[in-house]
Amino acid sequence: MAKPKVQLFILIILCLASLSFARQKLLVFLLDGSRFDYINDKELESLPGFREIVERGVKVDYMTPDFPSLSYPNYYTLMTGRHCEVHQMVGNYMWDQKTNKSFDIGANEDSLLPLWWDGSEPLWVTMEKLKRKVFMYYWPGCEVEILGVRPNYCRAYSSNTSDAEFDIAVKDALQSLRNGSTDMAAVYYERIDIEGHHNGPWSNQRKNATRAVDQVLKDMNQQIKDFGLQNDLNVVLFSDHGMTDIYWMEKIIELVNYINMSDVLKMMDRGPVVNLWPAEGKHSEVYNKLKAVAHMNVFSKEEIPDRFYYKKGKFVSPLTLVADQGWFIIQSKDKLPFWNNGTKVSEAWQHGWHGYDNELMDMRAFFLAYGPNFKTNYRSAPIRSVDVYNVMCHVLGVEPLPNNGSWSRVENMLRSSASLAVSLQLGSCVLALAQYLLLA
Ligand SMILES: [Zn+2]
Repeated sequence: MAKPKVQLFILIILCLASLSFARQKLLVFLLDGSRFDYINDKELESLPGFREIVERGVKVDYMTPDFPSLSYPNYYTLMTGRHCEVHQMVGNYMWDQKTNKSFDIGANEDSLLPLWWDGSEPLWVTMEKLKRKVFMYYWPGCEVEILGVRPNYCRAYSSNTSDAEFDIAVKDALQSLRNGSTDMAAVYYERIDIEGHHNGPWSNQRKNATRAVDQVLKDMNQQIKDFGLQNDLNVVLFSDHGMTDIYWMEKIIELVNYINMSDVLKMMDRGPVVNLWPAEGKHSEVYNKLKAVAHMNVFSKEEIPDRFYYKKGKFVSPLTLVADQGWFIIQSKDKLPFWNNGTKVSEAWQHGWHGYDNELMDMRAFFLAYGPNFKTNYRSAPIRSVDVYNVMCHVLGVEPLPNNGSWSRVENMLRSSASLAVSLQLGSCVLALAQYLLLA
């Protein structure tokens, strides 16, 4: 009598074991503004933390961001697998004409409204709905209730998070993954982007920020080994966009030189991409005047190139201005643009920017991954930011929602034998359990 019970017990244990293998844990890093070539072969020589990840895992040649190559649009593309016109987060600054609400790089109170976020379901919300746990550290938007859901834990974004706080966050994330408090942890780091803006993409200050991350990654690699997490944890690292040199005061387009600003109802953002809502009856006049401006394209909604996957977004303005690489659009030099804390753009913000045409080389982002689901020492052909969502869903064992990513661009980086073994193991488990129950 006891024997069948023992058999059943062993079967259940085996099935649970294979299930846990199918559901690996995931640690995600978003390194804002980290251009793909900040970790090229030459740079890797002095970045041992990154180098170990490259050797033990997957590196793509580069990752093309979504248009506009700005932060918030790409944060959401990465976490939903959908283009901006589908998930609706189309800028760092947005305006809803109907409600007169604005989204100012997530820094104002109205930025927390569901209006901006409920256009699509990010991965962490899906995880929560599946009763899987998610811890997020400084990740922009983790404090927002999206589709009625928040992550289990959110250490809210702040604009002056230090390298030491980043280090603590990563250690905390690893502990939480290790002790089962969470199934997925996501950590955001901003200083690479800030130094790129302030001092330029190849400045010592930017390199210094990359080295600070490298030190944290070096410690993390060691801890993963010390904790014995190598077979349970996948680590995925990526950026939202790249960075290019800008030439402040030399390559500046001042809109006041071409149009009367009283003909414009609303202007959002400045720099590579500017959104304009012309006053009633002024659309053609403003459009025609701006059409003549050099080093800049002006698009009415229907003229926006299809390849941007942008024009159908509900917050897209009637006119979208896109500067040529290195050029910067502002209202006027007298009315300098403001940074999100209300201070004027000073010397500090004059050396690097992003947001330009997403196909430009300098706008390209990076992607790295290692862990049980990924091939080792594998160089992958380029991918796009819409592709990352499918990879994360795959390693978490989550069914992806409909998205714009391409599976064929990413499946080559995954270890097929592992997933095959898992499905075989799961399949035989189910079969054996069914047989047992039928015979019992
Ligand atoms: Zn930036």
